[in-house]
Amino acid sequence: MIKKIAHIGIAVKDLEKQAKFYHETLGFSFEGYEDLPKRGLKIGLFAIGGVRIELLQPTGTDSAIAKFLEEKGEGVHHLAFEVRDIKGELGRLKAAGVELIDSEPRPGVGEAMIAFLNPKSTGRVLIELCEAKNH
Ligand code: ZN
Repeated sequence: MIKKIAHIGIAVKDLEKQAKFYHETLGFSFEGYEDLPKRGLKIGLFAIGGVRIELLQPTGTDSAIAKFLEEKGEGVHHLAFEVRDIKGELGRLKAAGVELIDSEPRPGVGEAMIAFLNPKSTGRVLIELCEAKNH
């Protein structure tokens, strides 16, 4: 079952500028930057009240985030829900008729395992399931 909101992914063009906004202006705690070269992404991690914000900036032109920015501009990209057993949850949702983008979990930020649901099945919200390493 879903436990809580793990994070909110936000597509940004200028990571430093938005990092300043979340950290200095809004007062979120800054948890660090992470480079994901395979996914063509640089990520800034922030937290407040147990919820994390991930600012997602593309480092090239061929990532999903680069495409999103080109088509829709900056803004909320996805919601991530924390689950205890991601494989089990994917099986349960599939059986309930939910279309999956990732039928198998794959590595995400901070050694979590993640999988995305198809927005066609979720009222056009991109939802990520996330199983933290130590839960
Ligand atoms: Zn995410």
